[in-house]
Amino acid sequence: MNYLADSSRYDNMEYRRCGRSGLKLPAISLGLWHNFGGVDVFENYRDMLRTAFDKGVTHFDLANNYGPPPGSAEENFGVIFKKDFLPYRDELVISSKAGYLMWPGPYGEWGSRKYVMASCDQSLKRMGLDYVDIFYSHRFDPNTPLEETMGALDSIVRQGKALYVGISSYTAEQTLEAVKILKELGTPCLIHQPKYSMLDRWVEAPTPAGSLLDVLGDKGIGCIPFSPLAQGLLSNKYLNGIPEGSRAALPHGFLQESAITPEVIEKLKALDTLAQQRGQSLAQMALAWLLKDQRVTSVLIGASRTSQLLDSLESLNNTNFSTEELNKIEEILA
Ligand code: NDP
Repeated sequence: MNYLADSSRYDNMEYRRCGRSGLKLPAISLGLWHNFGGVDVFENYRDMLRTAFDKGVTHFDLANNYGPPPGSAEENFGVIFKKDFLPYRDELVISSKAGYLMWPGPYGEWGSRKYVMASCDQSLKRMGLDYVDIFYSHRFDPNTPLEETMGALDSIVRQGKALYVGISSYTAEQTLEAVKILKELGTPCLIHQPKYSMLDRWVEAPTPAGSLLDVLGDKGIGCIPFSPLAQGLLSNKYLNGIPEGSRAALPHGFLQESAITPEVIEKLKALDTLAQQRGQSLAQMALAWLLKDQRVTSVLIGASRTSQLLDSLESLNNTNFSTEELNKIEEILA
């Protein structure tokens, strides 16, 4: 059946300005790392994408290597884009990245101009797009001059293949350097994509350059935390073991069973109790907790089914925390 987007799709979503740029992103964005690959079920991920857009989620995040197999998430997205989203292209922010291993040989990963520019071309082809809205350097390359990697991002924008550029998982110091180079080139850094959740708070940690969050706030760069639910740990699903079909149970899932320790479970149980007192699910509270900081432009969630997406979207109904609640969370996470 032909897809017609819900006419009320913009009624309930909150849109936040990405740093000091002109671009706004939905407070919740959807990533296609897991559950949209060649091993997954077409009707399931199509329904998630349609439902997301119907609810005002205008931002879909991809990368060259998402699958498995690598590249298949972009291919599958391309199929659905053509069938369902073509009329809505100008309402969508689609991102991709290059940095991790994508093809064999010396030019298939990291940050050389040779790899980054070829990878962008490949991603556009797989998705059937003329351009992406944001193109990222997926990881810092210690063996390539940063000027070369940032120069490749700048060229991609000048060639009309991306509108904005971003970086992912760069430290505070690397970020400052990248931001400076990009500014000199005339293509400002729009956004940083770091791993950030209640269970992984490295972005808050002080460094000689300041914390990454402080650097982003000072420089007017957006922040879009990935794995905000710590790959599903920050939900009630692992409180009593590892359920069948969950990411920790999947052979190709990135979440390792070894991450689910008794200490983590104890914290999750205490957080779950607090979430219930707030009238939220643990997943909803974990997302709301990130969104309380206005430097966080959007949280980049994953989902394996539409019901999870709908559950996570409900987090926007309560992003306020009392001082007591915040203190309690610090106590639990300590
Ligand atoms: P999350 O931390 O949101 O984990 C998503 C998983 O959590 C789902 O697959 C599902 O697990 C479970 N889940 C989601 N919602 C709920 C819910 N409401 N209740 C219960 N369980 C839930 O994010 P991801 O780790 O998937 O990462 C999100 C996106 O971030 C990626 O798709 C990608 O776009 C980006 N990313 C970027 C990286 C980078 O290097 N820049 C690295 C990693 C991710 P289950 O499958 O068990 O049902």
